[in-house]
This record gives sequence, C-alpha cells and structure tokens, in this order.
Amino acid sequence: MILKGKKILIMGLRNKWSIAWGAAQAAYDQGAQIIFTYSSMEGKEKLEHLIAEIPNSTMYPCDVDEDSKIEKVFKTIKKEHGNIDGILHSIAHANAEDLKNDFINTTREGFSHANDISAYSLVAVCRYAKEILNPGSSVVSLTYIGSEKVLANYNVMGVAKAALECSIRYLADNLGKDDIRINAVSAGPIKTLSAKGIKDFSSMQTAVAEKAPLKRNVTAYEVGNVVAFLMSNMSASITGEVIHADNGFSIMGI
Ligand code: NAD
Repeated sequence: MILKGKKILIMGLRNKWSIAWGAAQAAYDQGAQIIFTYSSMEGKEKLEHLIAEIPNSTMYPCDVDEDSKIEKVFKTIKKEHGNIDGILHSIAHANAEDLKNDFINTTREGFSHANDISAYSLVAVCRYAKEILNPGSSVVSLTYIGSEKVLANYNVMGVAKAALECSIRYLADNLGKDDIRINAVSAGPIKTLSAKGIKDFSSMQTAVAEKAPLKRNVTAYEVGNVVAFLMSNMSASITGEVIHADNGFSIMGI
C-alpha cells in the first residue's frame, strides 16, 4: 500500500483500455483515492459507469486546449477535495492524417496541434496544479520511444513526445523548490483507442514482443504500477527522468 492516504488525479480517462484506467487500478490497489478528468469529447455516462468500479472515485470534465479550462478544473478540485498528492497526465492527440502521411508533409496547424495538446498541456497543468499539490507530490506523464528513434507513422507525435520529455526536465527544476517531483514513463505499445489511430500499430506490437528481452508486450496495469511507484515516497529521489516500462525493448540494438 505505497499510496495509502494519497489523493491522485488521473487526467485522460477515455475507456477501460486507456493507460489511465490501468494506472487508476494500480494506484487504487496501492491505497490511493482517485480523482479523474476526462475530455468533454468522451461520453460522460459511459465513464461514470466505469469509474463506479473504483470506490470513492470522482470525475470532472477538462479539455486541455485552453488554459482557462485547466485553471477551472483545479479550482473545482481544490474546492471539493482540498490539496492533492499526485497527477498522472495521460493525454495526447495528433491529427489522423499526420499519423499516416510522410512527416515532411506535416502542416503548421498539425504540428502545433500535436505539440499543444500532447506537450504544452503538461506545462499548463503544472502551473495551475502547483497551488494544490502538497509538498512531496509527484507528477507523471506518459511518453513513447518514438521521441528517441524514428518509428513508422509515429511522425509528429514523436516530436511532441520529445518536447514533453524536455519540458519535464525544465519543470523538474522549477517544481523542485516546492518539493514536487515530475517524471515520465516511456511505455511499450499498448492497444488503446489512441494507438489504433497509428497506421500498422499491430505490427509494431508484434515486432516489439519479438525483440524485447522479456518477449512480450506490456499491459496498462504494469505501466500503472510503475506510475504508482513514481507517485509514491519510494521514488523520493527521482525527478526529471524518463523511465522505460517496455519489457527492455529500448536497450536492444539491431
Ligand atoms: P487513450 O485514447 O485511452 O487516452 C488518450 C487520452 O487523451 C483520452 O482520454 C483523450 O480523451 C485525451 N485527450 C485527447 N485530446 C484531449 C484534449 N484536447 N483535452 C483533454 N484530453 C484529451 O490512449 P492511451 O494510449 O491510454 O494514451 C494515454 C497516454 O499514453 C498518451 O499520452 C499516449 O501518447 C501515451 N502512450 C501510449 C502508448 C500506447 O501504446 N498506447 C505508449 C506510450 C505512451
């Protein structure tokens, strides 16, 4: 029970296949109270039904495309729950055509959209969340190896993940004064709704399972356990890092 007594906010729940859901289950199993945010593009009733599986959990709508919406949700959470102890940022988006055409054809709009929703949103979340994060809190985001290496069809999302990882280092420096940590988990490929938007995603999963030292793909719950560790006091000395939870895939050469 490494998260006993902690209130954890999980941003980006879409459905039961979301990494956010695996992370929520892992955090709950470790004793945390869970608060969710979801995009207003998702069905509220379906999500209410899902979160009923986690006792005492609540959820609030929050789209991250405008600072005012992020500011508003943190004011509401403060009013209804007081301070919190951790945040998982599990949000990304790119235009569908940018995940199948050559990267060179990414439009100015597509480039800024992917970076805005997938990377900048974390900066704004940290800015507004800072007021309600207890000392010793931990923020975690999710990234992918497409930030480090060229992967077929990952394209502009790889650039956005690189921006996210670099933002984490700068944010770690800013937040450290308030005893707040921030890290990313670089997860192996998991079949979620977002992942299905990447052309040939299944062959990526097959290739990873063949090459990874552990010869399998990761589950959302396994990634959630790494997030739980980073949210806990067990990782009190780790900040500004990207930790791979990918069954070792990223260490392999050709
Ligand atoms: P998902 O589709 O379940 O989650 C993505 C979430 O982003 C959804 O809840 C969606 O509503 C939210 N979102 C998109 N645009 C938004 C906006 N404007 N405002 C608020 N929320 C918005 O898919 P997932 O795979 O669980 O993705 C979660 C995170 O994990 C993403 O950052 C993704 O890049 C990352 N990740 C996924 C994989 C994978 O293989 N699935 C691997 C590594 C990292």
